[in-house]
Amino acid sequence: MNPLYAEMPTTIFEAMSALARELGAVNLGQGFPDARGPDAVIEAAVTALREGSNQYPPMAGMAELRRAVADHYRRHQQVDLDWASEVTVTSGATEALAAAIFALVRPGDEVLLFQPMYDAYLPLVLRAGGVPRFARLAPPDWRIDAAMLDQAFTPRTRLVIINNPVNPSASLFDAESLALLAERVIAHDAIVISDEVWEHLVFDGRQHIPLMRLPGMRDRTVKIGSAGKIFSLTGWKVGWMCAAPPLTRVIAKAHQFLTFTTPPNLQAAAAFGLAMADDYFTAMRDHYARSRDRLARGLLDAGYAVLPSAGTYFLSIDLPASGISADDVTFAELAVREAGVATIPVSAFYAEDAVRGVVRLCFAKQDETIDAGIARMKIAR
Ligand code: PMP
Ligand code: GLN
Repeated sequence: MNPLYAEMPTTIFEAMSALARELGAVNLGQGFPDARGPDAVIEAAVTALREGSNQYPPMAGMAELRRAVADHYRRHQQVDLDWASEVTVTSGATEALAAAIFALVRPGDEVLLFQPMYDAYLPLVLRAGGVPRFARLAPPDWRIDAAMLDQAFTPRTRLVIINNPVNPSASLFDAESLALLAERVIAHDAIVISDEVWEHLVFDGRQHIPLMRLPGMRDRTVKIGSAGKIFSLTGWKVGWMCAAPPLTRVIAKAHQFLTFTTPPNLQAAAAFGLAMADDYFTAMRDHYARSRDRLARGLLDAGYAVLPSAGTYFLSIDLPASGISADDVTFAELAVREAGVATIPVSAFYAEDAVRGVVRLCFAKQDETIDAGIARMKIAR
């Protein structure tokens, strides 16, 4: 047995959701919406299931979805992609991450990770034989600075994995931070996996900046997206990666032995959805911004100090600033067991030197769920 896996705990998302189910708690932990999702996209999947092919689609994904991804990014982000040589469909962003990491990391290569980091990154890097190097971001602004980058980059740096907007901190890297990063990536001749699954959930008039658009980054960036996030259908596990042809060709070799393909009906529906008018994307963002404000207001009224949420469908509370001395794991454990509300301790997103006073909550929930969560959070204090 591989000790890496044998000794690994179950992910905090699954562990918390299992506890919430067992205890009948309000689940504001794992990030998934509790609404049905857009009817038109679901109908497109139903139609494709009845009338389309249910056999293996092409390995790189159906042309219709690959074209839709390229068109979508041209329209929304001014990123120009050749669908045929630069877009690959994967089974969720998770598979895109795995394929890209397995294909790009050689044993002994250093991989720069920003903590807090999404939970899949480190196990995949280690499995690929990569040597992780960490840059540590901390509340309240979770910023990158030049000194931190200068310390983290070395002559062995091969890959950087960045998530923007950031889960769990709900922060965005601004143009200046991305430029600092890009400068060093180029100087070290490295590659970046840019996990942009939250690209459409950017609030208060802010703009998502695709890393590929920075000078010199177009051909060094693997941009990852997820239909599960864009259409609030997290169970679908349809994702994609976009990269210059030499990177795409290599990553496709890993993809062919991970999942090979992704269900064609869901691909057809994702293609339909990506082509929807701007209204859908604006309405989704506005809807989640209202949910964010509802949860933030309720938590503030309950005496919690809430950290800003600029993107994603998460927000965090600062425990010490809320007058709570318990660390995040203790607080989350008591909150689920004694107050009946599941949250996620942010220290789970650190491999070392963790921030221990921040707890993440998901607001992609109907108003009743949010209100029930707030009521339970009042008890958790
Ligand atoms: N990356 C990040 C930063 C995420 O938050 C998530 C899902 N929560 C994923 C990747 C995985 O996306 P998918 O469900 O499409 O595999
Ligand atoms: N990305 C989701 C979150 O951050 C969970 C995904 C998962 O459970 N793997 O909550």
